[in-house]
Amino acid sequence: MSIKLNQISEVIKQQIKNYSSKVIKSEEGIVLSIGDGVATVSGLEDVMNGELLMFPGEIAGMAMNLEESSIGVVIMGDASKIVQGDRVKRTKEVVRTGVGNALLGRVVNGIGQPIDGLGKIETTKTLPVERIATGVMSRKSVDQPMETGIVAIDSLIPIGKGQRELIIGDRQTGKTTIAIDAIINQKGKNVKCVYVAIGQKESTVTQIVEKLRKNGALEYTVIVTSSASESAPIQYITPYTGVTIAEEWMFSGEDVLIVYDDLSKHAQAYRTLSLLLRRPPGREAYPGDVFYLHSRLLERSARITKEYGGGSITALPIIETLAGDISAYIPTNVISITDGQIFLSERLFNANIRPAVDTGLSVSRVGSSAQIKAMKQVASTLKLELAQYYELQAFSKFGSDLDENTRSILSHGEKIVEILRQPEGKTLDQILQTLVLLAINEKLVKWIPVSKVESLKLAIIKFFMKDAAGKAIYESIKEKNEFSEDIKQTAITEIKKLIKKSISTIPDYNPLDYGRQEDYDKF
Ligand code: ATP
Ligand code: MG
Repeated sequence: MSIKLNQISEVIKQQIKNYSSKVIKSEEGIVLSIGDGVATVSGLEDVMNGELLMFPGEIAGMAMNLEESSIGVVIMGDASKIVQGDRVKRTKEVVRTGVGNALLGRVVNGIGQPIDGLGKIETTKTLPVERIATGVMSRKSVDQPMETGIVAIDSLIPIGKGQRELIIGDRQTGKTTIAIDAIINQKGKNVKCVYVAIGQKESTVTQIVEKLRKNGALEYTVIVTSSASESAPIQYITPYTGVTIAEEWMFSGEDVLIVYDDLSKHAQAYRTLSLLLRRPPGREAYPGDVFYLHSRLLERSARITKEYGGGSITALPIIETLAGDISAYIPTNVISITDGQIFLSERLFNANIRPAVDTGLSVSRVGSSAQIKAMKQVASTLKLELAQYYELQAFSKFGSDLDENTRSILSHGEKIVEILRQPEGKTLDQILQTLVLLAINEKLVKWIPVSKVESLKLAIIKFFMKDAAGKAIYESIKEKNEFSEDIKQTAITEIKKLIKKSISTIPDYNPLDYGRQEDYDKF
């Protein structure tokens, strides 16, 4: 930038002239330049980072860059009305949002204002959206399950209350569906939900709101959204507004599930903002503090002790990858901040294995301590069996003459995959999941072909939900959340009966196709 000599001397002369005059702290600044939604304002010495500033016509801005002689302000409204020389007033307030139960069932924008046409939200309390995460001493370990109702997740990658579990995958692989199913599954479980949509199409968000409403999930959910057409600063602030709403419930002892859909778009909004503020770009043109952007957000999810309120926030951030590349910048950042990830594979999705959870690349670092005992009893070997299956599957493509052991691993694996398939919106409660998985764990499904597995699954669910004998077994498992030896045997006997019924519908059934005659006689 070139500054002319006479300009400098002019400034120095001014300084000398005003040397003795009293220091006046200015509460009003002047717009030096404006462009692309970012204004440079001079004359506001004491402004806070993140402070709200008012431009003429009640247009709000947020102070982001505090420099010696001027500040960078991002405009949160219609920037086209602001011109050079406009006066800017301080508000001495940072961005705040209303919190509390009045928000339930509502759709709000990125700064917590209603956009669903249902009128004003009568909140009695507001909180700043940027707050420091609760400290180490207030935190408690994760030991209660956060049930998603999705068998592949609850059995293999269990999530606990207070955990942060990333959902990651390419576009259109069922990421949002998993998160929404998890919200719907909280019905009657005394968990409040916050769905944060960042940079999505408005039509998509409308569909999600409708889906939640249809399933009776809207009454315990609040939707915080800033669509793709919203300005970058608003998109940037949106997830912080969401977590602030969630925190209020956590600190009053309630359990909250929050979904960030998705943080890739959030990072992009922040990149736009930072480049406009002329902050130096780094890798993939993201600014240097993009890690902090997400860590300070996700650190606000926790399970806290009784003294601090005793609630929890479980976070399901979503990240979209390109061509399954989880080693790109933003994905690796968020993977390292979260306590595990659910990786959705496009290959599985296209092979109609849905939810397309890649069990090899997915992990949950803390959730298994939160699993109910019954689930541990039936799911402990599942992951290993699936891993063996996928490994042998790759091999078996080369040769056709496989030994008996290999064949049994392969056919068992196929049946596990079949059991884990689940249509969207059809969540299952934990006990029913364990009963379905019992058929796998005890290798009872061995005697039926893969094509019969789905109907068997439905028969098991129906039996334990509707039949009197089935319901009694269901209730006694639920009592202690575990299988006692005799309950397990009774359940197995009942499942065997269902399998025999299924076999009776197969014409020319030959047990030798599935195993040895003497085993079948004992079955
Ligand atoms: P985007 O990248 O566009 O956000 P996404 O990864 O969030 O996509 P979804 O919108 O959840 O993916 O799902 C994509 C499509 O797959 C939807 O049409 C949805 O109905 C379908 N789908 C998702 N999960 C299942 C499932 N378990 N069974 C059948 N269809 C599914
Ligand atoms: Mg989506």
